Amino acid sequence: MWRGAAVRAVRGAGSSRAASGAAAAQLRRRLEGELEEIRGAGTWKSERVIASRQGPHLRLAGGGAGILNFCANNYLGLSSHPQVIRAAVQALEEFGAGLSSVRFICGTQSIHKDLEEKIARFHQREDAILYASCFDANAGIFEALLTPEDAVLSDELNHASIIDGIRLCKANKYRYKHMDMQDLEAKLQDAQKHRLRLVATDGAFSMDGDIAPLREICQLAQKYDALVFIDECHATGFLGPNGRGTDELLGVVDKVTIINSTLGKALGGAAGGYTTGPKPLIDLLRQRSRPYLFSNSLPPAVVGCASKALDLLMESNAIAQSMAAKTQRFRSKMTAAGFTISGKDHPICPVMLGDARLAAVMAEDMLSRGIYVIGFSYPVVPKGKARIRVQISAVHSDEDIDRCVEAFTEVGRKHGALP
Ligand code: PLP
Repeated sequence: MWRGAAVRAVRGAGSSRAASGAAAAQLRRRLEGELEEIRGAGTWKSERVIASRQGPHLRLAGGGAGILNFCANNYLGLSSHPQVIRAAVQALEEFGAGLSSVRFICGTQSIHKDLEEKIARFHQREDAILYASCFDANAGIFEALLTPEDAVLSDELNHASIIDGIRLCKANKYRYKHMDMQDLEAKLQDAQKHRLRLVATDGAFSMDGDIAPLREICQLAQKYDALVFIDECHATGFLGPNGRGTDELLGVVDKVTIINSTLGKALGGAAGGYTTGPKPLIDLLRQRSRPYLFSNSLPPAVVGCASKALDLLMESNAIAQSMAAKTQRFRSKMTAAGFTISGKDHPICPVMLGDARLAAVMAEDMLSRGIYVIGFSYPVVPKGKARIRVQISAVHSDEDIDRCVEAFTEVGRKHGALP
């Protein structure tokens, strides 16, 4: 019965009744103009439709089976791991589809508390709080924590959600040049007049695959009495000997005060985000953080996925470690073929091409050879720095990686990116 109603709703979409009136017509004209501008600027983002599960091999809607996928954040291949899927089904059956409530009214189940405890244990922190996404975690932390008496110092290339979160708070704002420790030090000196200083950085930057110099950041933070916040979306689960993240990789677990991260990438890939850190901070976020207070609880199936992913990672470090060799294979073979790969030792491997059109044409040609990769150009990356971003997953086989390198080499020669 429900399925029938849904099908009727979709079929009926073509005969939707548009709002009428002068204001609606004016809005429509303005929106169509803006959309045309986006198309004209060549920055239109279209979406390919996948007709299978997420994984290293995909089927695209309208054909295209057996496509090799190199553009998901499914770093550990847990998005379709049988145990992760089973855990989601069990949680769904035992705890239902959802809570129809925010956490503090009627929306906290034992599995939410268990997952928060597990996240804190995984990161060796005192406590953790769940959000519907890491975007929400970033949107909710700065405003709750910082006042006009305080200062936040943010890397200029931080993720959009950190930038938005900082915009929402009333602290004094400093933006330091990307990973530039001299500039950070100058800004920290300037910020001495404020009550509290918080340095905020991505642990790993998703456009360049580079890793923040956390040791140096923590040394400066110590020298100038500042706290350190890291966004670990592109690190949790696979960086460091046990996959704990950038702080483990660089030996500064006890120097980083606050971690925000996602459950939507390496940790099962469903959705959700969190903050982990000192207990009084987490307690305060439960009282004050707006995306937490005014948004629905994470659905049980999503909690089940993340919880199982963490179990798998805490049982053994084999999955986390399997990442490094695959990344190394791709980076070294591509470099030997003559390509420039940005970043270092990170499964985000941007193949630097410079020209936006070249990146777009090469990505299309890769797909015609069964390899799904995405070209990025301005305004997502700076002008003249267009690239194809390749993301390696622990579940890519060596043959998958070699096939990708071969296709890049052929396509690169064809379009003049290689001699
Ligand atoms: N922070 C960084 C660095 C990200 O790359 C992303 C997602 O792309 C987010 C935050 C947002 O994460 P989520 O998808 O959980 O909202």
